[in-house]
Amino acid sequence: MSINQFVMDNEKVIRMSFFFGMLVVMAVWELFAPRRALTVSKAVRWVNNLGLVFFNSFLLRVLFPAAAVGVAAFASKNGWGIFNYYDVPFWVAAVASVVIMDFIIYLQHVMVHAIPLLWRLHRLHHADLDYDVTTGARFHPIEIILSMLIKFATIVVLGPPVIAVVVFEIMLNATAMFNHANVRLPLGLDRILRLFLVTPDMHRVHHSVEDDEANSNFGFSLPWWDRVFGTYRDQPRGGHEGMTIGIRKYRDPKQVAWLPGMMLMPFKGKISGYAINRRQWNDAEKKQDE
Ligand SMILES: [Zn+2]
Ligand SMILES: [Zn+2]
Repeated sequence: MSINQFVMDNEKVIRMSFFFGMLVVMAVWELFAPRRALTVSKAVRWVNNLGLVFFNSFLLRVLFPAAAVGVAAFASKNGWGIFNYYDVPFWVAAVASVVIMDFIIYLQHVMVHAIPLLWRLHRLHHADLDYDVTTGARFHPIEIILSMLIKFATIVVLGPPVIAVVVFEIMLNATAMFNHANVRLPLGLDRILRLFLVTPDMHRVHHSVEDDEANSNFGFSLPWWDRVFGTYRDQPRGGHEGMTIGIRKYRDPKQVAWLPGMMLMPFKGKISGYAINRRQWNDAEKKQDE
């Protein structure tokens, strides 16, 4: 049996094993070296955040049983996508695919912050009042579906090797759990790791209630995109222990820490984001004219 076939046949088991393995490792690490004190009880956070994760994986399995791997295999069989069309050495195609797919995730993350309608979905991830390993997988089901469709489109255009897709998905999942973890890393180690991996201290800045801090450090796995595109921010102004995590407007645990409130978050509040942005835009234009 080829390695491709093995990975295709056991893809779900492989991904689940990495998910649970990483969850246990980070959870134990959080117990022994926590970075911040939690504001909501861990039991409430874990039951609700992980409840959402299980619901999302069930939903994806029902909606897209073939998953990203299936799309990659289909593209490869039909010669679709850049790396299937051109004769590119396997390793070049594999490494380039992982890096490009990570870049697309970065762009997608900037987009869900920039477009008010999409921010409604993404704000569930940010409304978490604390920051721990379960935050890393806490996304609204509609955002999960949107991400999946973007991933499918990327795969069809790119034509990545099947293995690269599996490696990428495991890497994204593992790094999201690592960099959302409430863990303390020696500062020197954080400095070195940050050169090629998004660390917990780096991504925590992105979960600040401060707008300028939340609009920085969009990367999930590779830290380079933030540096290249000027969205990198070294540390939060208030320090990691002093900073406030979450969204200023949404502080009621019933709404942000319990599943029913979490599911309804995108539909709360008037759709005024466009109007507000439009006004700010007009004001800025007026100022320029003066
Ligand atoms: Zn974000
Ligand atoms: Zn995050």
